[in-house]
Amino acid sequence: MKLPIYMDNHATTRTDPRVFEVMRPYFLDVFGNAASRNHSFGWEAEEAVEKARKQIADLIGATPKEIVFTSGATESNNLALKGIAEMYGERGNHIITQVTEHKAVLDTCKRLEKDGVRVTYLPVKQDGLVDLDQLRDAITDKTILISIMYANNEIGVVQPVKEISAIAKEKGVLFHTDAVQAVGKIPVNVISDGIDVLSLSGHKFYGPKGVGALYVRRRNPRVQITAQMDGGGHERGMRSGTLNVPAIAGLGAACEIAKNEMPEESKRLRFLRDKLKDRLMSSLDEVYINGSMEHRLPHNLNISFAYVEGESLLMGINDIAVSSGSACTSATLEPSYVLKALGAGDDLAHSSIRFGIGRFNTEEEVDYVADKVIDVVTKLRELSPLYEMAKEGVDLSKVSWAAH
Ligand SMILES: *Cc1c(COP(=O)(O)O)cnc(C)c1O
Repeated sequence: MKLPIYMDNHATTRTDPRVFEVMRPYFLDVFGNAASRNHSFGWEAEEAVEKARKQIADLIGATPKEIVFTSGATESNNLALKGIAEMYGERGNHIITQVTEHKAVLDTCKRLEKDGVRVTYLPVKQDGLVDLDQLRDAITDKTILISIMYANNEIGVVQPVKEISAIAKEKGVLFHTDAVQAVGKIPVNVISDGIDVLSLSGHKFYGPKGVGALYVRRRNPRVQITAQMDGGGHERGMRSGTLNVPAIAGLGAACEIAKNEMPEESKRLRFLRDKLKDRLMSSLDEVYINGSMEHRLPHNLNISFAYVEGESLLMGINDIAVSSGSACTSATLEPSYVLKALGAGDDLAHSSIRFGIGRFNTEEEVDYVADKVIDVVTKLRELSPLYEMAKEGVDLSKVSWAAH
């Protein structure tokens, strides 16, 4: 076993070597521009792009023409929200989203608000799931779009996408989902899930960084999106720019592998995740799981360790790459806005760890991580007067602290 151990697979994943091998020739030999129509260099590049388009479509139940290539999910989310707000602006100016979205959705919404769009940010329940009654109540005759993520990147909770899309359809509102954390990990199907527009990203499921796609439904209803970049008119006018052929070929390959291996892989990762959870919870008290365990990605664990300081904990396990509930979205040491939205206090948010178990993690690594975390948390608590007081039965919420 090699240290450090990478267990931060919600931030990014290692490119699968099989994906890399598919990409290689498109740098060196088949380097044509997929838009060049006059020679074989262009045709071969275009062939690779169209193959990938089909592989992506096959993974999510779409047709190839509904796939628009982008530079990643940040761009996909921008294109979806801004492109729909612009295209459907005459019909209405109201968008509904939720507070636990990725910044690529939230910051896009903030920008749209400056441009006169009204945005409702729904709270989430304590388990991290959206309240469907609140969603229904938020819809007005000006609502054009609901944007709710498929699965959360911090706590891994999977939203009730079918129910959300049914509400959207009933009210004649479009439904976009940031499905970055779900695609390639759990079954996602734009038809049976009723999704109109979907964002995905290559590097979150063992493809390369800097490439993603936007699914834009073409029938029932036909969704239209205003391009946000001018030039060339590539991707049926929705996204101009010379296509990144090697990365697109890699994204396609990543989709095919995910489709073939998902049933086995998700079973294996769920076993490892549950083993990690069970070991931590049976050896340590005062640990809290953040978000629904039932509606959750199989490879995610987000857990708070009360009475330890987040920074010390991370320092103690510095041969394990994970994310903490602080500073994970900013350079400053702010508690995670996702955990706060679940009602976690600052202390528990700061002392939380997100484990993202991935394709290349082994059971040996999971055992090492469990041992190490248990050891470090136990040692830190031995130094914690608060933990000692809590163990002695002192109600810490009733203690008034003297200022020095
Ligand atoms: C990583 C991530 C993004 C951003 O994707 P990029 O391709 O890195 O721009 C958007 N949404 C979610 C949920 C993510 O996890």
